[in-house]
Amino acid sequence: MNDLTWTGTQVRRLKELGVDLQNIPAEFSTLAERNKIFQQIEKKQVKADRAKLSDFLIQGKKSHIEKLKETLCRILHQQGFIRVFTPTIITKAALEKMTIDDDHPLFQQVYWLNEKQCLRPMLAPSLYSLMVDFSRLNHRPIRFFEMGSCFRKESDGARHNSEFTMLNFVEMGLPEENRHARLKELAGIIAKTAGLDDFRFESEDSKVYGTTLDVVAGSESIEVASGAMGPHPLDAAWGITDTWVGMGFGIERLLMTSEGDTSIGKWGKSLSYLNGVRLSI
Ligand code: ATP
Ligand code: MG
Repeated sequence: MNDLTWTGTQVRRLKELGVDLQNIPAEFSTLAERNKIFQQIEKKQVKADRAKLSDFLIQGKKSHIEKLKETLCRILHQQGFIRVFTPTIITKAALEKMTIDDDHPLFQQVYWLNEKQCLRPMLAPSLYSLMVDFSRLNHRPIRFFEMGSCFRKESDGARHNSEFTMLNFVEMGLPEENRHARLKELAGIIAKTAGLDDFRFESEDSKVYGTTLDVVAGSESIEVASGAMGPHPLDAAWGITDTWVGMGFGIERLLMTSEGDTSIGKWGKSLSYLNGVRLSI
């Protein structure tokens, strides 16, 4: 009778090592047979992973995430966007201007440093602040983006890291009737550059952003980005009167989905993985 399967621990270890469970036996006649096959697969995979890691270190290669970040920055520069770098530490007042106050669900997810300062959970407050300053200039459109770490306390680990990399672009001063098409155009450029061929757009209602345009990818419809456009309910608090489109992508989500993975762990900042390869091998 063939009804013996892998143990939970074995499945976890095989997944960690990047073994595709579809390509290996799933049922066994005896415990001894199962454990022997497990050891053989583990040994072979550890050898292959060590070789991959050595190759990566010896050749001084760029990691997938480094390459993706560089490519996305290059593409955005080609589209006429400049890159800005704003502080990782932001103020409670800036979050309040986004209506994220003590009662907002995201408030509980914020890492507070003290009563007035926190690690940014998003780039939007700082980008809004720059929009105010840029709006005094005469030329339009105005295009800029930021790429950097954001921090949120999260309970779901499969698609969330407490520290992740956000890429957020903003284009100001475009004709109002063009906003929807332009937002989709820019989102499509980024998604395709990241290697996503199976993505689509979904509209969602968000407390912070009003109606958002999300980019979802793969058969599991994983959200890789959320976008919005102005005029927008939040604009008045900042004194913005320009039209704008903006979208925030999670770089690790882009990488995970483009690699066909449904778990984010391997692709974020980590002491356990390097370039998608498990380090405890
Ligand atoms: P989700 O509903 O999946 O938690 P969200 O709607 O709260 O995401 P947004 O505020 O829309 O996230 O942030 C923009 C993008 O940043 C998301 O589409 C996602 O790609 C990425 N992102 C958000 N939170 C995380 C996280 N904790 N870890 C990794 N990526 C994240
Ligand atoms: Mg979202």
